[in-house]
Amino acid sequence: MPLVIVPTPIGNLEDITLRAIRTLREADIIACEDTRRTSILLQNFHIKTKTISYHSFNEKERADNLIERLNRGETVALVSDAGTPGICDPGYVIINHVIQEGIPITVLPGACAAVSALVASGFSNRPFLFVGFLPDKTGDRRRFLQSLVNHPWVMIFYLSPHKALKHLETIIEVLGNRQAVLCREISKIYEEFYRSDLEQMLERVRTDGVRGEMVLVIEDVDLPMEGHQSIWQGQTGKLYMEGLSEKTIVNLVTDQFHIPRNVVKRYIAELKKLDKNEPEVL
Ligand code: SAM
Repeated sequence: MPLVIVPTPIGNLEDITLRAIRTLREADIIACEDTRRTSILLQNFHIKTKTISYHSFNEKERADNLIERLNRGETVALVSDAGTPGICDPGYVIINHVIQEGIPITVLPGACAAVSALVASGFSNRPFLFVGFLPDKTGDRRRFLQSLVNHPWVMIFYLSPHKALKHLETIIEVLGNRQAVLCREISKIYEEFYRSDLEQMLERVRTDGVRGEMVLVIEDVDLPMEGHQSIWQGQTGKLYMEGLSEKTIVNLVTDQFHIPRNVVKRYIAELKKLDKNEPEVL
């Protein structure tokens, strides 16, 4: 039987599909992050299926157990604490193990905080980048954000309340002030969509604090093509002059500027040609 990935509500218990309820009811076992949390959901829908926990420390061990069950023909439903399993939660470990074993999976559509936030932001008609949680360590966070400086798309970040202030500070420091929407407590009583620029948002978080679960959606930026081009080409030229290998340059520039590899390679070829034609200065 396939592993059935079942999204669960991110706040309002009514946001579960009929198919999810039926799947959870009919499954032989429900694999969940935290059995106590999932049991609240199951009780609410009078679902009596047994649960088994997987969490950050035992996913691999549990995955083996679940694989055995799937191979025996049992139906295993996978849920996480909230939303779509595998999106910024340990569900992905189980999913990957099952895929690697060649066992089929199926996924039910359902609640996901990132999608709801993107839609509520009003930016959903443009390409977007789902980032999820930023690194905890300031240096790592700064470096990671630096790789996004020239990324022109809408960006979606998951923030936790006690780190929101620090993370907003680093985002502004590296990406600059952009328009954004802070989507808090989606589908809950205190749902709020706070629309402002990042500086104003930071000021508000500083003065009033911030509570609850939240997603930050940052508007796309209109990087002038010309400017963008000269920035990545400048960086490519610099790395070329430093004598780095073509492969390293391509890796660095594509990572940092999200330029297709073949475009960077073509530009390096031009630089090489120029190099050959350059008369030697005596
Ligand atoms: N798997 C989940 C999903 O599909 O969205 C995400 C799990 S991740 C561990 C939890 C993070 O999702 C929270 O820190 C918050 O950023 C976001 N989140 C979850 N529920 C939310 C809600 N009701 N409102 C806003 N953000 C939420």
